[in-house]
Amino acid sequence: MIAENVRRLLRELPPGVRLLAVAKGHPPEAIAQAVAAGISLIGENYVQEAERARQTISGVAWHFIGHLQKNKVRKAAALFDMIETVDSREIAAELDRRCAELGKNMPVLIEVNSGREPQKSGAMPERVIETVTELARFKHLTVSGLMTMGPRLAQPAEYHTYFAETRRLFEHLCRLRLPGTDLRYLSMGMSDSYRAALAEGANIVRIGRLIFEDP
Ligand SMILES: *Cc1c(COP(=O)(O)O)cnc(C)c1O
Repeated sequence: MIAENVRRLLRELPPGVRLLAVAKGHPPEAIAQAVAAGISLIGENYVQEAERARQTISGVAWHFIGHLQKNKVRKAAALFDMIETVDSREIAAELDRRCAELGKNMPVLIEVNSGREPQKSGAMPERVIETVTELARFKHLTVSGLMTMGPRLAQPAEYHTYFAETRRLFEHLCRLRLPGTDLRYLSMGMSDSYRAALAEGANIVRIGRLIFEDP
């Protein structure tokens, strides 16, 4: 079932779009099935889950997509190949420090609060350029793009608005060519919203339920 889900999604995605399998809540055996079917990118919301899964699964890239707490940054720096959810200078500074200790450069995406929801993480759209400019100064981080979720209760059609605004921000940033950035990735869309995200130019879609749960 997992294998079939992965193959169907991979067939559907246009060339150049990467499928990130969101593994939260699923055991390493399920992740291994997805990998055997062609997944090469895994998303984890929890540092501890990733630690466990990485013991048995190799040959794939790991992206952190959860809310990063300061006391987990050291482990996250060691475990992940990209952090998609950086939204504050404080977390970025800690991540930069830990990556320096590891002699590692970490690609990061800036999480955009495209729905402007006060209780949610992510930089407000009007603060993204400032945030990218600040974070681009950290020597051991490379700002590699933007990530967004969109409001949790949006209707499928409404996602277009939030994703389109995030894409326009991304394009604007690309034109600025800020030093310390290498803008390539626009990570948008989940099981309910990935078609809207593709239409609006996402090149990473983050899918959990459509891979790991029964249709
Ligand atoms: C859970 C999660 C997803 C995937 O959501 P599904 O509805 O399971 O596809 C994508 N991105 C983030 C940040 C998540 O936490």
